[in-house]
Amino acid sequence: MRRPAIPPGEAALARLRREALMINAIAQGMLSTTADLATQSARTGAAAGGSGASTGDRLTLSAEALLTYQSSQTDKNTRNLWESQFGLTSGTQMLENGHRQVTTIEGSNLTVMEYDGDTHAPSHYLVNPPEIDRTMGEYLCASGVRQLAISETQKFGHVTYFFNGNRSGKFNDKLEDYIEIRSDIVPFEQRPWMKAAEITDAVISAIASGKYGMIRLNFANGDMVGHTGVYQSVLVAVETLDICVRRIREAVDAAGGVMVITADHGNSDDMYEHDKKGNVKMEDGRPARKTSHSLNPVPCIVYDPGFKGEYTPELKTGLGISSIPATCMELLGFVPPADYDSGVLNMK
Ligand SMILES: [Zn+2]
Repeated sequence: MRRPAIPPGEAALARLRREALMINAIAQGMLSTTADLATQSARTGAAAGGSGASTGDRLTLSAEALLTYQSSQTDKNTRNLWESQFGLTSGTQMLENGHRQVTTIEGSNLTVMEYDGDTHAPSHYLVNPPEIDRTMGEYLCASGVRQLAISETQKFGHVTYFFNGNRSGKFNDKLEDYIEIRSDIVPFEQRPWMKAAEITDAVISAIASGKYGMIRLNFANGDMVGHTGVYQSVLVAVETLDICVRRIREAVDAAGGVMVITADHGNSDDMYEHDKKGNVKMEDGRPARKTSHSLNPVPCIVYDPGFKGEYTPELKTGLGISSIPATCMELLGFVPPADYDSGVLNMK
């Protein structure tokens, strides 16, 4: 369900500032009850020069920012406030807004959460990002493990900045290499292979070099081509990845390594819109294109040709992307930090 954008104007901005103040206060634990909320609402409304009364406007917000927000903030009051103020009821509805869509308010982007603490982008946001430290990269550097992070421009930030807990730069210049392969600047449906082969070439030589204890890479194809909704292009994108993953698998075999394959969400797995009964929706006599992320569970594959029964062959289920660091650390022979989410392996 898409919400109309808030109209530009001083009144709207004033209200936005008030909400930002209020929600930041809640996110930081300064407020805890609905009564506090009402009092603070009036106070911050006055402080920000707003009227203190809701205009009933609705905002269109970044779907991914909201999901990040929902998965990282557990404060019930904050969520309730969002639901009442902005008419949000669930992440699934927001998914229909598509990828990284943000609302423009007087030339500034608005998201639920600040997503770049270095450039303070976007200029308008409602919740401070959670502080993330002691990430896997930091632990592995402290443990002397050489690491490579590689992707093409489209997902380079995902294997570096986001992977490191919204942190710019390396933990250790001597132990880490980051490689960005420049993405093509053409519509994704016209280059569905993207830079997968180039990433694969670089990864295979990195594996063969024996230099790295851990290599993390991201193929952008499944997500970026998936967003186009062009079925034929998606077929090419996914077949490209089949070839690339096979090539990497052979390099892993030769090096005696382990490969973990997963994703943070689906996209190319679900290319048509469905109605509530699960039937494909039709549009002008054709299946209606789906251009947003799918909600299907994401598989996790641990390819371990040198498996010697160190863990049970069945992986744990029902876990999420946050289980990958502990999984990789266990495969590297470390005991993961106690406050990490459980890995997918049942270690013996
Ligand atoms: Zn996406």
